[in-house]
Amino acid sequence: MTLRPILLHPDPRLKTLCKPVDDMSDALRSLSKDMLETMYKAPGIGLAAPQVGIMSRLLVMDCVKENSEAPRPMVMANPQIIASSDERSVYEEGCLSLPDQYADVERPAEVTVRWIDLDGNEAEETFTGLWATCVQHEVDHLDGKLFIDHLKPLRRQMITRKMVKYKRDKARDRA
Ligand SMILES: [Zn+2]
Repeated sequence: MTLRPILLHPDPRLKTLCKPVDDMSDALRSLSKDMLETMYKAPGIGLAAPQVGIMSRLLVMDCVKENSEAPRPMVMANPQIIASSDERSVYEEGCLSLPDQYADVERPAEVTVRWIDLDGNEAEETFTGLWATCVQHEVDHLDGKLFIDHLKPLRRQMITRKMVKYKRDKARDRA
């Protein structure tokens, strides 16, 4: 397993529509292991393939937060949100591609998702709470959308300016 570098906003690859996965392959299984390891290490609760520069519709997540609970690593290829509740909920979201930036985002409180699992089988599940927010955030990534795209333009621009500075400082530190 390999830790993969996570792309930081702004980056054109984070604004790109990702291609469907043809088939669950060993290459994708190995990529999803890398992505899970990268996500746990960060630490984060979700990671989408474009965040590591792979423009495929693949995401991983694990929203188990209590140390007393067993981890639940999930891998989804070609996830589709097939139903969303009218009821909405607000969570303060963050993103591994936007370190230290957080904002309240309102989304459907409950979603049903259909995807292809690691064995190549179709799976379906209804998510609520943090899981529902996380899976919607990650599916957005596959459509080239970030959580800041749900915010008012002024707030989005402010965060983007901070990120441009963050990336500049980081590049300078490395130089
Ligand atoms: Zn994200």
